[in-house]
Amino acid sequence: MQTHFTDSQRDEPGIRIAEEVLRKCVHCGFCTATCPTYRITGDELESPRGRIALIQDLLETGAAPTPLTVSHLDHCLSCLSCESTCPSGVSYRRLIDQARELIEEKYRRPRFDRGLRALLAWLLPQQAWFRAALVAGRWSRPLLCFAGRFSLRIDALARMVPGALPSARDAIRPGIYPAEGTEIRRVALIAGCVQGVLAPDIDAATLRLLRRHGCTVVVPAPAAGCCGALPHHLGKGTPAQAMAHRNLDAWRELVRTDSPAAVDTVLMTASGCGSHLKDYAYLLPDDGDAAELARRVKDLSQLLDELSAQTPLRVVSGISAGVTLAWQSPCSLQHGFNEKSAPIRVLQACGFDVRQPQNPHLCCGSAGTYNLLQPAFAERLGRDKADAITATGATIAVSANIGCITQLQAKLAVAGGERPTPILHLAQILDWATGGERPAALGKHEVPGKH
Ligand code: SF4
Ligand code: SF4
Repeated sequence: MQTHFTDSQRDEPGIRIAEEVLRKCVHCGFCTATCPTYRITGDELESPRGRIALIQDLLETGAAPTPLTVSHLDHCLSCLSCESTCPSGVSYRRLIDQARELIEEKYRRPRFDRGLRALLAWLLPQQAWFRAALVAGRWSRPLLCFAGRFSLRIDALARMVPGALPSARDAIRPGIYPAEGTEIRRVALIAGCVQGVLAPDIDAATLRLLRRHGCTVVVPAPAAGCCGALPHHLGKGTPAQAMAHRNLDAWRELVRTDSPAAVDTVLMTASGCGSHLKDYAYLLPDDGDAAELARRVKDLSQLLDELSAQTPLRVVSGISAGVTLAWQSPCSLQHGFNEKSAPIRVLQACGFDVRQPQNPHLCCGSAGTYNLLQPAFAERLGRDKADAITATGATIAVSANIGCITQLQAKLAVAGGERPTPILHLAQILDWATGGERPAALGKHEVPGKH
């Protein structure tokens, strides 16, 4: 694609990167076939190719974005399905991220939109406040539901409030947890913010699972905090970068090769957060430790896949017998990490029959805060995904990102009627299959075999 940046524009590193990406795009349109919003609307400006043209115009002219441009770019899920499809290697994320920051800087959103975005960027990374907000939300649910009749966004907020909250005492504590038996790996397990409130059992299951398979697990003190993915996707580049800096300062000793505390692997069990950590090398280009960190970041499925190649997983006989799983791959894992096969291999290594829902490349509509900000698209995508999972006839659905799990729990309850498919995190099912207790999230769901 031809570009028309001036020499002074090219002095900005962001513009130089954008120009390089734009020049790779040959307008072939292959990406439109796998873009969720284009599939729904059939509108070119709701496709990656159309959005790339809008972003190019924004960057070249430097003009303030129009409401129409903002709405087309806001509808983008940042699912990166287009990146996986593009034959020319267009790194779309480098364009949409810049566009989001530019919109944040130059466009004055309506007051409610501005307030909601600011609230989400502030609230979600702060566990204590987030928990307090969910408790308050439960008390005021009738009011929220009433207000939800007049606003899709308030309705989405009301539906996000869970019926019951796990205790904060279930969260993993900072410390060093030795491997059971011989140590094969040292792994830093970074606790997430939203997941730590909604499902602390996921990290607890991960801790048990890793120790059982020869990993010494280091849980760093929560000196740092949110990985920064949430503000980053809201276009709030400065706070997101400050979070990345603060985290790296807290974790330097874990990733420096000459440090006695160094770990082999850095893990976050929400794949959205893990894939953002992998991007620290890009976000903090002048900090060598950021590249070291990114090199060590893995998804849980990748780590378990490597471990199982060395020594078979300690599978408990009978748990997986007759159990079929629907593997719902989060976009952050299949497109962000570019990892499509490791989770399936690991689940199969435990003896499960694994099925994939139709159109596995399509987003479930969760996408960070997308389901709260774009509830109409999110609702449609969530319903389609839940229908596809239900159609597999699987006993249990499995995913690897708290956002997808939360979004799909509600949708599966509708799609499955009287027998909805329960959904678990990969860590929970693998912990169970290798000696952990039956996941509490399965509740009273009937599962075939010795249970
Ligand atoms: S597939 Fe790649 S090269 Fe083709 S239009 Fe989409 S982004 Fe451009
Ligand atoms: S990131 Fe996803 S929603 Fe956005 S343009 Fe690419 S495929 Fe479409």
